[in-house]
Formats: sequence, C-alpha cells, structure tokens
Amino acid sequence: MADPILIGGDWKAGQGDVVTSIYPADGSVSGEVAGASPDDVNAAVAAAVKAQADPGWRDMLPHMRAALLYRVADIIQERHEALAQLQRRDNGKPIMETRALVASAAGTFRYFGAACETAEDEVTPSRGPYLSMSTWEPAGVVAAITPWNSPVASDAQKLAPALAAGNAVILKPAGHTPLVALELGRICLEAGIPPGIVSVLPGAGSVIGNAIIQHPDVRMVSFTGGTTTGKAIAHMAADKLMPTILELGGKSPTIVFDDAEIDHAVNGVIFGIFSSAGQSCIAGSRLFVDRAIYDDFLEALVAKTRTLRVGDPEDDRTQMGPQISAAHRESIEAYVARADSEGGKVLVGGARPSGNGFEQGFYYAPTVIDGLTNASTVAQEEIFGPVVVALPFDGEDDLIAQANDSVYGLACGLWTRDYRRAWRVGRRIQSGTMWVNTYKQFSISTPFAGWKDSGWGAEKGRLGLRNYMRQKSFYWGLNDTPIPWAD
Ligand code: NAD
Repeated sequence: MADPILIGGDWKAGQGDVVTSIYPADGSVSGEVAGASPDDVNAAVAAAVKAQADPGWRDMLPHMRAALLYRVADIIQERHEALAQLQRRDNGKPIMETRALVASAAGTFRYFGAACETAEDEVTPSRGPYLSMSTWEPAGVVAAITPWNSPVASDAQKLAPALAAGNAVILKPAGHTPLVALELGRICLEAGIPPGIVSVLPGAGSVIGNAIIQHPDVRMVSFTGGTTTGKAIAHMAADKLMPTILELGGKSPTIVFDDAEIDHAVNGVIFGIFSSAGQSCIAGSRLFVDRAIYDDFLEALVAKTRTLRVGDPEDDRTQMGPQISAAHRESIEAYVARADSEGGKVLVGGARPSGNGFEQGFYYAPTVIDGLTNASTVAQEEIFGPVVVALPFDGEDDLIAQANDSVYGLACGLWTRDYRRAWRVGRRIQSGTMWVNTYKQFSISTPFAGWKDSGWGAEKGRLGLRNYMRQKSFYWGLNDTPIPWAD
C-alpha cells in the first residue's frame, strides 16, 4: 500500500495518483506514496489559512519562531545520515553529495531562524507631525514547488524563509522525488511547528501544481524548476496578481584565460559540469577557453575527465552517479546526436558506460564536445546532463559577446590570475552569480538569483526572508490638535 502524505497536519492517503520514487542506480522502487488530488489541495489550503491566521502562529514572537526553526535544524542534524541515504535513494546522487546537501539544509533552517529573530522594522524619516514606520507581514499561504535534482536543499531553501516569515507552506515536490519532502514535513511537525502550517503534496505538476497555484487563498509562489514551467507559472500568477520567486534553468559559461592556474581551472571546470552528474541548474555547460591555450587545456581536461569515478551512489568515493530516469538519459543522448549532426566532435564520453552493473541504472558518461559554435543547439539549450561544449575565444570582447549570447543568465565561472580583468569581465557578464577562480560555491547568507530566462526574485541572504513577506507602512499621528483641513 502506498504511504500517506501530509495534508493539513494529518498523515493520510492522498486521493490522487500514486507517486513512485525509483532508484536511478538500478531501477528498483524506493517508495510509493498516495499522491494528492485537487480536493486534497483544497483541504490543505483551508487548513493552512486557518493555521496561519491562528494567533498562536501569526503573533508568535520572532525569537520563539526562531527556536522552532533551530529545532528543525537540530533534528535534521540528528538524522543526517538517514536523510542523506533517503535523498540518495530518491534521486541517485552520490552519498558524498547528499551528505553535504543535508548539512546545508540544517544550516538553512538555522540561518533563517537567526534572520527571523534579528530582523528589524524601520522608523522612516517623517515629513510631518507623525512617526512613520516600515514593517513587514507574512504573505499568507505560500506555494513552494521544487525540482528533483537537490530536493533536500531546495525544499529547505523555501520552507525555512517562508516559515521564518510567519507563513503557512504548501510544498509540492517533483514527481521523481517525493520522499525527502515528506520527511521534512514530518520533522517540522516534530519540531513543534503547528499542524496545518506545512502540507506536503506530491503529485503531477500540471494537475496538483496548477491547483495549488490557482487556488484563490494561495498568496505567493516560490518555484524552482525549468524555464518553460516557470513561464507558465508566471502567467497563472499574473492572473491573480500574485508575487513569484522563479529560480529557473541555465546554460552557464565557464571562462579560462591564458594566464589561469591550469590545474585549478581543470578541477573547477570538471566540478562545475560533472558534479551532480551534470543535473544542476548552475552547471558550467559552456566552456570558453582562450584560443592561445585551447588545445593544451582541452587535452588536460579530457585526461582528467577519464579519471572520474562514475558508479554506485552508495560508495563514498563515487563522484558521478546516474541520471534521474531512463527518459532523461534519452534526452541527453538526443542532444549528443544533435551535436554530432551539427559537426561536433566527442572528445570523451558520448555514451552509456558499460560493465560494473551500469546496465541496471540510468548512467551516462561525462562528455566533452568540441568543434561547434556558440550558436549550436547544444550550446544554446539546457541539457541538464554531464555534457560540456568547449568553445575558443579571441579577446575579451569576443568572449563577452559569446558568453552573453544565451537566453539564460544564471551563473558564470572565470579563471584568471589578473584580478583587474576578472572584475572588468565579471561586471559585463549577464548572470546572477559570478565565481572567480572557483565554481559552485554557495553560502546561504549570499543572495542567489537568475537573470533573463533564468528567473527573477532572489532566494537566500537576509533579504531572502523579506521576499516571503509584504511591506506595510504605519503612520502614528503626533498632532496636539485635530487635522486643520476639516475645520
Ligand atoms: P520542472 O519544471 O519540470 O518541474 C519542477 C517542479 O514544477 C516539479 O515539482 C513539477 O512537478 C512542477 N510542475 C511542472 N509543471 C507544473 C505546472 N504547470 N504548474 C505547477 N507546477 C508544475 O523541472 P525539473 O525537471 O523538476 O527540474 C529541472 C529544471 O530545474 C532545470 O531546468 C534546472 O535548471 C532547474 N533548476 C533551477 C534551479 C535554480 O535555482 N535556478 C535549481 C535547480 C533546478
């Protein structure tokens, strides 16, 4: 029998389709949950409205709410290994990576607990006989819709600030990965977050996701996922004049100048594209190399790529696990075939690995492609797999023109010893995040936001809390006499 889900504070069987979590390393079933139906959405939102308006939550003092978030962080920490293993089963990421993701989820709850209890309203300069203030209130019921690639981290990244801000949250995880989201819901309840404040509703995006977003009592949506879905959500939200945070796809450039520390750059490029088996929004999937060092750099990159440990996600040493599903791997294969038809040359990879039990899982080898231009399909479209397209450049202007010639603007890596050049080029790149001589480093205290088709609205950082709130101005009259106009 399929496991229950969290609807308005109660664990019960959803009335929708069963949602199955498949272990991508061998195709076995990790779990089945009774997915939500549109009626379950209505029940969860009704409970959320009631729980959010309850003075016990609405008027809870910030330091008390922070204490609950710290407790969530403590429980995540106590169950660190179990959660890391669950995340591995849910999406096949190597255990080394899921352990780091769980640790970051605990840190996220702690950070937003601290942000909550230290956030201050402002007294603004008045221009008359009154005291004026700018204050913040919760948005109300918030929809949090997340993808499958790093669920424990992306769920926490929405739950923690939304709860810190005093909202109720309807969390809808991706179809591939329902298990960790449900566990986070359980932990929130155990930590003392009132029933009804968090619901976790697995189900198809086009049915359950839509039902949540279109519900009249849902007042904000925070979405992480693909750009096509994000645009559809933006349209639905516009009909309700509902604020959105959209963290969408990417096609991020990694740039290597001729004065770069080559061993640092090789490791950084490899980590940037092949960690998470390339299933990362910020994957450095377009590699721009100064023509002066292009051949030598590619030789070093290919040699290092051949040494990557692809394999069993349970093994502590594994660097690259499988793709999320057979269908996703087929889409990667179609892109590599397209690269071939457009004149690309596969320097390494470009196939499923064989032996070692690889046949059972959805593995795809780390792949480097050369011989294309930035206009090619694989340089323009997000593959979301372990495929990097290498492109030479001639000087800064050529580089910037190519790097910015993309609908996306999520992140960029830049390798050079020249800090003046890093600053000059970094300022001209159209992306929300710049990494100089590093890649894929993240801090919960530093805002993260996409430009262009990579989204809008920021997460993380102290302002990440305010993005789940509405601003309200107060004017306190200090007149000793009635307002003269009416006399
Ligand atoms: P997706 O857009 O297919 O799905 C994301 C979520 O949206 C899932 O929960 C899905 O069920 C739901 N959904 C789908 N259609 C919906 C609809 N019509 N209404 C409401 N919800 C709907 O994305 P995915 O395949 O799960 O994830 C991969 C994508 O996510 C990639 O494009 C990747 O770049 C992006 N991503 C972005 C970030 C970021 O922070 N910018 C982080 C991780 C992943």
